Amino acid sequence: MPIIILASEVVSKIAAGEVVDRPASVVKELVENSLDAGATQISVETQGGGVSLIRVTDNGSGIPTNDVELAFHRYATSKIDALTDLEKISTLGFRGEALPSIAAVAEVEVSTKSDGDAAGTYLYLKNGSVVKREKRSRPQGTTVTMHHLFRNFPARLKFLKSATTENGHIANILSQYAMAFPEVKFNLLLDGRLTLRTPGNGSLRDVVAEVYGLEIAKQMLEVCEADQAPSVTGLVSPPSLSRSSRGYLSFFVNRRWVRSSLLSRASEDAYHSLLMTGKHPIVVLNIYLPPQELDINVHPTKTEVKFRNSQTVYTAIQKSLGKVLVKTPPPKIKAGVPAFTPPPSLWEPKETVKPSLPILRVLGQLASNYIMAEGPEGLYLIDQHAAHERVLFEKILAQRSQQKIEIQGLLEPVNIELSPKQEEALKTKRELLHEFGFSLESFGARSYLLKAVPAIMKQGDLAEAVRTLLDSLTTEEEPSKREEKIAQSVACHSAVRAGQSLTAEEMRELIKQLEQTTQPRTCPHGRPTTIHLSSRQLEREFGRTT
Ligand code: ADP
Ligand code: MG
Repeated sequence: MPIIILASEVVSKIAAGEVVDRPASVVKELVENSLDAGATQISVETQGGGVSLIRVTDNGSGIPTNDVELAFHRYATSKIDALTDLEKISTLGFRGEALPSIAAVAEVEVSTKSDGDAAGTYLYLKNGSVVKREKRSRPQGTTVTMHHLFRNFPARLKFLKSATTENGHIANILSQYAMAFPEVKFNLLLDGRLTLRTPGNGSLRDVVAEVYGLEIAKQMLEVCEADQAPSVTGLVSPPSLSRSSRGYLSFFVNRRWVRSSLLSRASEDAYHSLLMTGKHPIVVLNIYLPPQELDINVHPTKTEVKFRNSQTVYTAIQKSLGKVLVKTPPPKIKAGVPAFTPPPSLWEPKETVKPSLPILRVLGQLASNYIMAEGPEGLYLIDQHAAHERVLFEKILAQRSQQKIEIQGLLEPVNIELSPKQEEALKTKRELLHEFGFSLESFGARSYLLKAVPAIMKQGDLAEAVRTLLDSLTTEEEPSKREEKIAQSVACHSAVRAGQSLTAEEMRELIKQLEQTTQPRTCPHGRPTTIHLSSRQLEREFGRTT
């Protein structure tokens, strides 16, 4: 084919695809327009995951009657004029692409009234062209309604996820803007259900209470470094409050919601050693810097930023957070210990880097329960049972994956009585148990003879161990989870108990083995094996910090 210049409709469809890829991006663009128009109240209403309908109503400046049609032209914007303006953009929009892009992929109604107009204007657009225009009275402000997103684009429609997923994206977008603009009242109705309502009283904490709940909002610490450049203000979680995903990091640069690995890294680094591996903070930060210090024109959706001087930004965030985190009451050693969360399955690819342990030197045993050890970064307390559980758990799973389970035959078979439920579990999982080294033979009504167990298994009450194991299996249906449960059960039964005194040699050996596991910081149930008191923390406790 010869080279041709694409017709403008084709170009606008390609461009529209960059701006509007799912219902949430329509919501984002419309809400940004409302904010740029100085609205103090913004209501968003959607139907069917935002595919059937999205309606955004604001009480902003409105669009002057003579400009309404123009707003739907590509590159039509009231927000910048000459190219030099790009250097100091203060509005959320500036590319003049949103309205035409939405009108290219859906039907759009707009009703608006500006301060200077006596009556409002109503437009209906299909396939990007105005099919109806009339005067309509309404209060100052704008309502944009989008119908049937991607109706004429079946291929695009197919890529959308379920209404529930799309609703999730929409709710997230609105939550982010609500946190960025606490002085604006937001309302979100998903299929008629009020999902978010913020007071618009200017308090970020009040918005966080609506988004993440009152309990979290109460605990959040205030960051207030307003006098530096870049200035950093907002709310961050204390080390005692954390989440298992990075989904709770929100950054607003000059009030624009952005994703930035630099900002995420800087914040997480500020929590370094305060949070358990795999745990992440809740962070809501406003960063202001002179517009010429950043480039937001990286992508049409404007959610990425480039900083001219990323090192300065990184340092500013780290310092501002570090300040408030140091001030939090540290004495409770348990502060960093998370609530029970199951560890990631061993078969799932791990996204985090190996949460390794440093080389440790054993100092002694505390309360016949914890091993005290010294590392390059302070004091470590290791729960001997949890640590040994981790070691055994990984050993069993490793043997299993290599099909090399070591088995020990019992000289004297153990008689085990089972409940009907346990027997049911045994019947369906006998094969699997056998593969792990358990050999059970029927010996009358609900009675069995245990003839062999995995070699790792400690003696002791084996009957009880098998019953506990079967109980744990009755609830679990997923195959990989089942294997994990078996390994957990065996590890738990066989690990050294709390209260058992250990020789120095035994402690050294245990720590050596723990260091070699893939997840040394948590036991198979997700509880911590290790509590770390950093040298810095100790210095602080002893008032040695300068
Ligand atoms: P941009 O926001 O990049 O300027 P848009 O296509 O989103 O481009 O909007 C085009 C123009 O329409 C805006 O520059 C603004 O003048 C006007 N406009 C759009 N939405 C609103 C609104 N809710 N209130 C007032 N004016 C609006
Ligand atoms: Mg816009």
